[in-house]
Amino acid sequence: QVLAGRSTKEVLQLYASRGQQIKLQSSSVVTQLHGAIKKRLKQDLKSLHSFALELSKDFQRQSKTCLYQVLAAVQGIQLQNEAMRMFQIKAFDLEQSLQEVTERYEKEKQKRKALHNSLVELRGNIRVHCRIRPLLPFDDAAGHSVSQDRQRNFSEKVAYAADDETVHVKCSRPGHASVNKAFQFERVYNDLESQDAVFADVAPLLTSLLDGYNVCIMAYGQTGSGKTYTMLGPQLEGNLTFSVEEESELGIIPRATQEVFRLISEKPPGSCWVEVSVVEVYNNEIFDLLAKDSYGRVFGVKRDVVTTREGKSDVPLLTHETVENASEFLYLVNKGLQLRVTHPTLVHAHSSRSHLVVTLTITTVVFGDNFGTLWEEEQTSQRLNKEASCTFPQKMRDNKSTSSSRASSPVQLEATEKMKQVKTRLQLVDLAGSECVGMSGVTGAALRETSFINRSLSALADVLGAIAEQRAHVPYRNSKLTHLLQDSVGGDAKLLVMLCISPGQKYLTESMQSLGFGTRARQVQRGQVKKKNFPVPSKAK
Ligand code: ADP
Ligand code: MG
Repeated sequence: QVLAGRSTKEVLQLYASRGQQIKLQSSSVVTQLHGAIKKRLKQDLKSLHSFALELSKDFQRQSKTCLYQVLAAVQGIQLQNEAMRMFQIKAFDLEQSLQEVTERYEKEKQKRKALHNSLVELRGNIRVHCRIRPLLPFDDAAGHSVSQDRQRNFSEKVAYAADDETVHVKCSRPGHASVNKAFQFERVYNDLESQDAVFADVAPLLTSLLDGYNVCIMAYGQTGSGKTYTMLGPQLEGNLTFSVEEESELGIIPRATQEVFRLISEKPPGSCWVEVSVVEVYNNEIFDLLAKDSYGRVFGVKRDVVTTREGKSDVPLLTHETVENASEFLYLVNKGLQLRVTHPTLVHAHSSRSHLVVTLTITTVVFGDNFGTLWEEEQTSQRLNKEASCTFPQKMRDNKSTSSSRASSPVQLEATEKMKQVKTRLQLVDLAGSECVGMSGVTGAALRETSFINRSLSALADVLGAIAEQRAHVPYRNSKLTHLLQDSVGGDAKLLVMLCISPGQKYLTESMQSLGFGTRARQVQRGQVKKKNFPVPSKAK
């Protein structure tokens, strides 16, 4: 309609202006759109920027706190390190002072021990060592008459070494709180201590032996407490002899012999020799386990013990065999021990039913013109002048009496004025079991055995009691055992009692009895043990 009647030119102009118009319109739309987009973009960018800013601020804040935390932690660690270092220094100081105190304690203990030893020496005290054996499988076994309740506690360990001088025993009675009883001895061995450790404390006595003192070591304790193990070593199965294969298991007797021969080897050749006797005291009879019959077979012979004019005990006709070394000695002792089970008069099921006394007599030839003036010398001085025929030790040894009788005095002098023999004696005793066996139900031979054992051990306790009270009469002769051991027990020898203790509850009564015996023995003061009269330094003349 608009175009109707218009010329082409006008139409074209109209179109052109219309196009212009549309162009103008679309450009304004584009401009508007562009403006809107730009505005939106600007807004987004702004919010993004502020978000990023916020984020970075937040990050900064957080990293700051983290840094603070890390710093604090580092500081804490530094402080802790410092404290740790201080503790370490303190611990080191404490450790050092503990070591110093321990060393000082050990030194003081050694000093105290040395002083105690000198006191023991001066008073002639009996030394008492106590060995607690380990619990063994047979400790569980119970007797018939015991209630289940008691059986359950049998293998409980009640006796143990609190330290190397103290035994603690846990005593409990039904309905009572258990109490710990303490016993002190010169040395206490715990159940882990070896035969080596036990012998280490015995060895110094052997040095004394060669220095002129008599020595006696006696094992006391109930059957099964380890006396034979301690004195001889583990016994062979079904046999009373002991194994010499296992060196580390050897007991005091074989080790002491080895040590005696080692000490002798340091002396001039031929100046010392050793004789051995093996005696068993069974049912108050003395049996010579080395006596031979006319065919040279070993065969137990009954002997008697007498008191000599000098008041010493002696066993006339007792066999003394000369031995050259420890293996000869062990062979002899083992032969003697075998006899304990094979000889008809000595039939007893258990070796602990008899006392075994092994004696080593060491004869030392000493030279000098200034001997001490003990009574033995005065007594024999007249004889010396008459019997000045022997001049050399070897000769004296070869010519020595083949009679098995011992000299009447433990110190025997039979040489020229400048040379004499001094005899010292090492007695090693494995006593019969000390258990307080009830007599009820026991008959015949067992009853006899038990009553003899009880009598001989109480005679030993009586003798110690009489010496302790310094009574004028000491009842040595009440039993063959005490009569035989008279010189050793009465103060002529350094005496060591080795108490053997079974640790189990089952043996509480017996253990307490043994510990009581040891405690009383320790208190006995016999006066200083006399040294045999070796030459004295010339200034003493
Ligand atoms: P006792 O002679 O006092 O009757 P034993 O010496 O025969 O006792 O010992 C009894 C048992 O205990 C033996 O089998 C022995 O080997 C063992 N025994 C004793 N003492 C110890 C110990 N200290 N270590 C290991 N076994 C031991
Ligand atoms: Mg035994």
